[in-house]
Amino acid sequence: MMSCLVGLCELYRVTGEQRYILPVINAWKDVTANQLLITGSGSSGEHWTEPRRFPSEAANNIAETCVTVTWIQLNQQLLRLTGEARYAEELERTFYNHLAAAQHPDGSSWAYFTALDGRKPYQTEQNCCTSSGPRGWAMLPSFVYMLSEDGIVVNFFTPGIATLKIDGEFVTIKQQTEYPANGKITLTVTVPKPMKFSLRVRVPSWSNLDGMKAKPGEYWLLRQIWSRTQTITLDFLIPSRIILGEGSAAGKVAIVRGPQVLAFDESYNPDGPAPEAVALPGMQLQLKPSVTYRDPDGNAVYETTGKTLQPAGNLKAGDSLTIRLVPFSSAGANGRQFTVWLNQAAGRASSESQQ
Ligand SMILES: [Zn+2]
Repeated sequence: MMSCLVGLCELYRVTGEQRYILPVINAWKDVTANQLLITGSGSSGEHWTEPRRFPSEAANNIAETCVTVTWIQLNQQLLRLTGEARYAEELERTFYNHLAAAQHPDGSSWAYFTALDGRKPYQTEQNCCTSSGPRGWAMLPSFVYMLSEDGIVVNFFTPGIATLKIDGEFVTIKQQTEYPANGKITLTVTVPKPMKFSLRVRVPSWSNLDGMKAKPGEYWLLRQIWSRTQTITLDFLIPSRIILGEGSAAGKVAIVRGPQVLAFDESYNPDGPAPEAVALPGMQLQLKPSVTYRDPDGNAVYETTGKTLQPAGNLKAGDSLTIRLVPFSSAGANGRQFTVWLNQAAGRASSESQQ
């Protein structure tokens, strides 16, 4: 179905007829409101399900990698046609979470379905998903930067250099960043002669730019005359926030840090209880704001405090313990069980952001 919507976008590009694009935008709104998991994909057994069910368990064959990649294609189409930041934000969510989660961090294998709980069924055999997964990654460089009618648009935060043609001249933009480990972005723009054009930088809806006028969920705009080489430094806030589960995850909570959904992975919590026996405090999230440490493969590990619901090791039920969380993208890479949705310890959860 989504491939048909991608086709309608192409038809609209050729004809300019609204009757082709309006159903696509309506379908996008329906998917984001009623089907999309917090990790930026969806579907059960390769189909959309009843509205707002959000199935996340492995038994339901969650989020075929082809669904993840076609969702990327659809958002890329809508971003190119409209220039609206909301499509770039969905792309960011999917790239940092469900697409990255479907591939083993060493690049060797892919999961056909990737649930939010359980173990990841990595495989190397040739099938639709082991071919469409790499195709999804290959699309990313085409929309890190885009051209608007009056300048450059920065959609993604990743190190690299791009050369763009503006008014017949080659303009180079270089980006240096460790995002999302921290929010510092350095952009260096080099022009062959003084030129006037706009630079737009996407501000994620959950963030803001420290000390600058910017609206979350929109593009920060700088319109000026550029000469030689100029450097701009931006600092995004990278908050952590608690998301309350809905549908089949009702009553549970997940932690999202910046663009990345985090998960509890047994292999980083060897002395703790099983994932289903871990609970996070409902009232306040106290996630350490920066990477606590990196594992030998370079994966970021974050710590917070939770409770065990069952005796484990020297712990009694109800005891506090340090919980180590890793991005959903690298969770389960060691073959151990993981979960995005955690139980909620007694007390009401607050969905408010906290740095
Ligand atoms: Zn597939």
